[in-house]
Amino acid sequence: MKKALVLALAGAMSLSLMACGSSASSTESATEAPAAETAAEETTEASAEAASEEQENEAAAFTTLTEGVLTVGTNAEFPPFEYVGDDGEPDGFDIALIKAIGEKMGIEVQVENMEFDSLVTSIGSKIDVAIAGMTVTEERQASVDFSDSYYDAVQSVIVPADSEIATIEDLQGLKIGAQLGTTGEFIIEDDIEGAEAATYNKAVDAVNDLINGKLDAVIVDRNPASVFAEKFPDDVKALNGEDFGFAVEQYAIAVPKGDTALLDAINAALAEVQEDGTFDALVAQYIEEGDASDEAASTEEASEEATEAAADETTEEAAAEATSAAE
Ligand code: GLN
Repeated sequence: MKKALVLALAGAMSLSLMACGSSASSTESATEAPAAETAAEETTEASAEAASEEQENEAAAFTTLTEGVLTVGTNAEFPPFEYVGDDGEPDGFDIALIKAIGEKMGIEVQVENMEFDSLVTSIGSKIDVAIAGMTVTEERQASVDFSDSYYDAVQSVIVPADSEIATIEDLQGLKIGAQLGTTGEFIIEDDIEGAEAATYNKAVDAVNDLINGKLDAVIVDRNPASVFAEKFPDDVKALNGEDFGFAVEQYAIAVPKGDTALLDAINAALAEVQEDGTFDALVAQYIEEGDASDEAASTEEASEEATEAAADETTEEAAAEATSAAE
């Protein structure tokens, strides 16, 4: 809340500075302005310029643990956001996203794979930032700041394929698995009466224990839950957490608390990546690609729509030309 207000104020300030700058320079070109007024305008312009220069310098002056390198922590056990690729290196949507952000920032990105539960405490000492499908929570905000959020998620409930579990009441008193230090674990501990949380460093190990009959359910974010459920379709199914009353969560990049220079640089680069289409291309490549039949259908639809749109445009253009020719 407080942070949002501060950001809004900062935005309003830079807007008013821009407004000052432009009104001052337009007065300057009006040669007939009375001398006194012109002098006043010039002073305003000068101070506005000084202030905005200062702001620009501030925005550029972020520092990292190693100069020229953005050291990024992740936990590559969370497909499709992060996983270990065929070459043994972390890959996935988040990894591609932070590399695109690093490119906009003009800095080399180096990814460190570590346990999810160590990410927040490593920020500022071992890593500059963390990207790990990490949900913005008040608890984490006590020790780190978050970038603008880039993805909405909700927890899923993975249960045995033949289970009749369907509501949060059905989960009461059960033994439920989750990844250590995740919002899935917090839900089991805080929101499900009498439930026992069994925590794992890798969510997939919890799913294996579910299949082996050692757990009654697993709570993990929706996208990895679908990936795990698709791996073992005969054994488990993933249920939508919204049917259990779980809240929508926002993923964001965690940065050192109070490091506004780095935060601003990351937010600016994230906005650029979103505006130039890179972000949507990565969503299509890493997140939507999962379901092949869906993809085929949507690609067909998209190309049909594109053809229709093109046809419409041609007709409209032709009509416009015809009208202007008639005039
Ligand atoms: N979104 C969950 C959280 O932030 C899980 C993230 C993860 O396991 N990588 O706690």
